[in-house]
Amino acid sequence: MAKKQCKVVVNESLCKGCNLCIEYCKHGALRSSSGLNKMGYHYAEPSEEAECIGCMMCTLVCPEVAIEVYGE
Ligand code: SF4
Ligand code: SF4
Repeated sequence: MAKKQCKVVVNESLCKGCNLCIEYCKHGALRSSSGLNKMGYHYAEPSEEAECIGCMMCTLVCPEVAIEVYGE
């Protein structure tokens, strides 16, 4: 069965850098940025190492509702 290709998008200006989404993404599709957003947080961003499979877990745990996931 072909793996589902999805795209995760983080609104970096809303992100508080709590890293919950990174901990809950069991696919390694999110990482902490090296840069800071306007509030001074290391925001979450898509990882280049792994692909998002669209499980939506990150959107469920994000307290700032900063994540959207798009399917193919
Ligand atoms: S939707 Fe699932 S696989 Fe994709 S980034 Fe969020 S937790 Fe990871
Ligand atoms: S869970 Fe939300 S606020 Fe926390 S790091 Fe991820 S995107 Fe940012």
